[in-house]
Amino acid sequence: MSVTRAPRKLYVKSYGCQMNVYDSQRMADVLARDGYVETATPDDADVLVLNTCHIREKAAEKVYSELGRLRVLKQKAARDGRRLTVAVAGCVAQAEGEEIIRRAPVVDLVVGPQSYHRLPDLVARAAVEGRVVDTDFPAEDKFDHLAAPTAAATRSRGAAAFVTVQEGCDKFCTFCVVPYTRGAEFSRPVQKILAEVEDLVAAGVKEIRLIGQNVNAWHGEGPDGRTWTLARLLYRLAEVPGVARLRYTTSHPRDMDDALIAAHGDLPALMPQLHLPVQSGSDRILDAMNRKHGRAEYLRVIERLKAARPDIAMSSDFIVGFPGETEQDFADTLALVDAVGFASAYSFKYSPRPGTPAADSDDQVSEAEKAERLARLQARIDHHAAAFNAATVGRTAQVLFESAGRHDGQMTGKSPWMQAVQVMAPPSVKGEILPVRITGTGTNSLHGALVVANGTAPPRHDGPDRITPADPALPGVPDPAVRAASGGH
Ligand code: SAM
Ligand code: SF4
Repeated sequence: MSVTRAPRKLYVKSYGCQMNVYDSQRMADVLARDGYVETATPDDADVLVLNTCHIREKAAEKVYSELGRLRVLKQKAARDGRRLTVAVAGCVAQAEGEEIIRRAPVVDLVVGPQSYHRLPDLVARAAVEGRVVDTDFPAEDKFDHLAAPTAAATRSRGAAAFVTVQEGCDKFCTFCVVPYTRGAEFSRPVQKILAEVEDLVAAGVKEIRLIGQNVNAWHGEGPDGRTWTLARLLYRLAEVPGVARLRYTTSHPRDMDDALIAAHGDLPALMPQLHLPVQSGSDRILDAMNRKHGRAEYLRVIERLKAARPDIAMSSDFIVGFPGETEQDFADTLALVDAVGFASAYSFKYSPRPGTPAADSDDQVSEAEKAERLARLQARIDHHAAAFNAATVGRTAQVLFESAGRHDGQMTGKSPWMQAVQVMAPPSVKGEILPVRITGTGTNSLHGALVVANGTAPPRHDGPDRITPADPALPGVPDPAVRAASGGH
């Protein structure tokens, strides 16, 4: 008589960037081959993975507090006669290795971002031996060994999917740990990316988000044996039937070449939103950060992007309180925010990371000053984001519905400009791209209503999004295209 074993349960908690979200999904896919099913709660997990971020000290410290809480969970599992294997993955694992097990003995396995394809073996070893550490940069391409998701897994993850095309970084900004934790730049070849995209689309995905630490530095091998640029890859992906929307993130201003800028004007599927981190508006600080471009160069790239795609919504990252940052440097940053009128932006206090050049500077800015500058910067960013969102009210936008909304009966989706939109709609709209009249702005999202013609069901929309002209019945409603092109307000 054969005995069927209950599936083992896996819980993965992701910290940090989109690359980690993608990696967490790949870990679940590779362990699914070994019979692991994902569980929504850590309480009944057999294997628990914390996929960590090391970019700022706060992010890394969060992991240690979580590990403290997991001790109790592991003891409870043992009382119930179960073994809970705790793994730490991601950039904290890569940066701290053995040290994690020393500080947190609850951890059985430490695995760096380049070794996820070996997880089934590593988990099996850790369950027997305990204390396994694998933070090598193996020669083999982990992407060749990672399992593809099943169509059911893809569907459960929604209509917008990440595809990692590039990893690592060769730029060595003086504040950043990425070149140390993720290693040298690596670009996946076109055929592998294409195959992954085709599988995702076949499972119902409509929007492909290409991701990489420096995604626009991607230069992968094409089917013709030549090196392709990201622009060429985007043109090719836009031809894949079923790809309705394309985005890419995170880009470096230095790598925004002519062809990539032109693609924003040429490809309707390429969404009019770009995250282009600048970090500071001061040339002196940009130089000290080793960003390899100045303020004027950055503004020129945005000007050219707006010429190619007038309604493009810009987003960015900022660091305040980099060593040596004066009040004048900070004022230059505020002025840059006003000049661009960002639709959204992330801002952080500078966090000294061990092993990076800026951490050793004896010109550190005090915590109090960093906090004060951050509050001022965030207020300025919020002001521009609110203006951008308000300018969409009264317009019709194509929304890709992704999940249930905040309130009963609501569904939420993304506008072409990456704004979250809450709409009263049936769950059946999930995965559809439908026209929505934007009716108002709320906290962190817009409100809208499905556009229904004469009481009939809203039309399906499977093609690339196009800008809907401003409604002639609403004269005076500013078009975000115009506002963005005029460089603020
Ligand atoms: N490659 C991207 C670029 O060139 O801008 C950024 C990738 S990094 C993972 C994401 C963001 O984290 C950065 O844009 C920066 O604003 C922030 N960041 C990185 N290191 C930091 C540090 N030491 N302190 C504060 N913020 C940091
Ligand atoms: Fe870090 Fe981005 Fe600079 Fe690379 S380019 S070192 S990932 S901030």
